[in-house]
Amino acid sequence: MTAHATGWLTPMFRTLSGPLGPVVGGDTAAGLEALGLETVHDLVRHLPVRLQAGTEESDLEAIYAEQQAALSRGEVLDDHVAVLLRIAHTTAHLFEPGKALKDARGGRRHPGRLTADLTDGHGRILRVTWFGTERMLVQWYRDLRRTSRGLFVGRLGWFQGDPQLVNPDFVSVTPDGAFLGSGPKRQIAEQVSQHPFIGIYRQSARLPTWTISSAVGLVVDAVKGLPDPMPAWVREAADLPELGAAIVAAHLPTSRDEHARGVERVRFDEAFATQAAMAYRRADASRHLAVRRPPAPGGLVDRLDARLPFRLTDEQVAVCDEIFADLDRTRPMQRLLQGEVGSGKTVVALRAMLRVVDAGGQAVLLAPTEVLAQQHHQSILGLLGELGQGPVLGAPEGATDVVLLTGSTPAAARRAALDRLADGSAGLAVGTHALLHEGVDFADLGLVVVDEQHRFGVEQRNALGVRGDRHPHVLVMTATPIPRSVAMTVFGDLDVSTIRHPPTGRAGVQTSVVDTRVRPEHLARVWQRIREDVAQGRQAFVVVPRIKAEAGPGHAVEETYEQLRDGPLQGLRLAMLHGRMSTAAKRDTMADFAAGAVDVLVATTVVEVGVDVPNATVMVVLDAESYGVSQLHQLRGRIGRGPHRGVCILVTASKVRDETEKRPKPVSNAHMERLYAVQATTDGFELAEVDLRQRREGDVLGLRQSGGRSSLRVIRVLEHAELLETARDLAQQVVARDPDLTDPGVRDYVRQIELLAADEWAEAT
Ligand code: ADP
Ligand code: MG
Repeated sequence: MTAHATGWLTPMFRTLSGPLGPVVGGDTAAGLEALGLETVHDLVRHLPVRLQAGTEESDLEAIYAEQQAALSRGEVLDDHVAVLLRIAHTTAHLFEPGKALKDARGGRRHPGRLTADLTDGHGRILRVTWFGTERMLVQWYRDLRRTSRGLFVGRLGWFQGDPQLVNPDFVSVTPDGAFLGSGPKRQIAEQVSQHPFIGIYRQSARLPTWTISSAVGLVVDAVKGLPDPMPAWVREAADLPELGAAIVAAHLPTSRDEHARGVERVRFDEAFATQAAMAYRRADASRHLAVRRPPAPGGLVDRLDARLPFRLTDEQVAVCDEIFADLDRTRPMQRLLQGEVGSGKTVVALRAMLRVVDAGGQAVLLAPTEVLAQQHHQSILGLLGELGQGPVLGAPEGATDVVLLTGSTPAAARRAALDRLADGSAGLAVGTHALLHEGVDFADLGLVVVDEQHRFGVEQRNALGVRGDRHPHVLVMTATPIPRSVAMTVFGDLDVSTIRHPPTGRAGVQTSVVDTRVRPEHLARVWQRIREDVAQGRQAFVVVPRIKAEAGPGHAVEETYEQLRDGPLQGLRLAMLHGRMSTAAKRDTMADFAAGAVDVLVATTVVEVGVDVPNATVMVVLDAESYGVSQLHQLRGRIGRGPHRGVCILVTASKVRDETEKRPKPVSNAHMERLYAVQATTDGFELAEVDLRQRREGDVLGLRQSGGRSSLRVIRVLEHAELLETARDLAQQVVARDPDLTDPGVRDYVRQIELLAADEWAEAT
């Protein structure tokens, strides 16, 4: 993509891609950074959560509903709100009983309290309380008495079941909608005198909405006159306003309609950028050449089939046929294979790899972690049996060699492995992604299989095995079910194959939620259940959210291990597994567990991906509310893989509290809903949609956290599917008209996405 990443920027993109500091000032820029906003573009896309007219009171009901919605999406809520309300009633109290504020003049400095009841014109009341010194209270009291309406900004809390604002900042507003403020508040007043609406923004304690407004005002001034980088015919086809005008309209509209159209354009730009990047990637890939790998009857694929202890399912066969057809072309395969944990992707990948070996080439399987690479290596050796013993004396004719290359491969073994890959005597390699960075030299690399792609960038996927103009075929595997809309947006450059049904003969998992806040006594039953299963020769996982106790609330591996060992699971064989153990220790522990020498494995989510111990039947997830839907679903995929039915028990923390506020977080309801969703269905696609609704796509796909610079900031793929389709169609037309990407505006859109992808890659490695 370097070809696209060079070249000059259009004036609009030059401004948009710049840092915020020079435009809004260093202090404000630092505050904005805490909200995840680093560039001018980030701030442009920090759309108002709501519009406020100076002449109207806020609708409290709607604000509470907004907060509820944010909570149910699982967003960490910043409780700061901005509301324009009428002041109904003000009372001042001193803490010394019997003294009203009026009596308290004369230099006494008792701390006191001032309360005001605000109304929203719909009959809803919000109680506001200020605490402060007497002098402050007197000042505020006077300010409040001088005005009948105000814009209040503060933290929304709950007191005895009622909402209240504590120590909010405020700006007086006259009945005809004029804001009376100084400093940044002044800016709001000016904006409002020119625009009938102001945007109310997601804000932080440090940056109230009016500071954000005033920063947005500066940004709007910087971009509003700049020429639109989007080709005019695209903009007209999508029926959208020009970008500069749209940015003004999105933030400082003269009507709600205008605002909606401005927002749509800002969203469309994001959709168009991602779709154009995909379309050009597809076009690029289709120009690359690959070596055809036609079938070889009687080769390793057939011989593997003959020795498999099971029959491939119809779906496995169908997916293999799609892959085989791709491999038989001179264009490199770019295919995503999705199938839930345990759906039998490994054997599909192995057949594809052997197909390439049969045709004289080599294949490599890349895993995200060493543990997984080792497991893949083991399971491939297991499936191949003597076919994987390499070209050594006594091995059957045509057997191939499977080398393992990870960060901890000893130097001598590593050199030997590299030699065998370079001279072609090893047909298959399994390794971690570290392989990508060391110039591993293959005699004839025909296929790269990437497991759990969503943890890695696209650049990385394409980095291996390119020889002149020959590219290897690429198969990406993921166990995270991806709804079609996301696949189209984020993996739009890949063809998709799906395995929906696991092979039969698997008993499956029954999930139940144990809410220890309601029924603490059920926890004893949970440990009892583990003892019963172990007594029948089975094994169990106990999953906890963290490695170290000091790191925060919630169970930690070591403490939990000790408590269980000395308490409810006394006498059983326990072991620990977590990401900070040495590779050797992890491998040994996993091997002991797989061999049945350990009954109960107390672990962090390192067990999430790939671990295959069919004898494990129970999984207890402690502090289950701290995991996402998809993650829980992945976790429970570790059990019920054999003939015995699995039981997954999701245990909520006994205390779900925000320690600073000493009250249960309302967020726990949303968390409970997630747990019940996981209990209710084992359909990964359904859960992926639940997850999508609750979280941002970047999280679902394992990209950077929301607030980070994910390429999707203002788009939610489920809500804006139609916009995405339009953008996709137009992007395809753009590529057809301009295959070499000569349009400077379009080049900037594409470049913006490729740079983000490169960032993500840099971070993942
Ligand atoms: P995935 O990689 O999709 O999580 P695996 O490939 O590891 O799943 O398969 C899980 C288990 O199912 C493995 O033990 C594998 O050998 C077995 N398996 C795969 N295909 C079949 C099949 N058609 N019938 C029975 N068992 C199968
Ligand atoms: Mg697997």
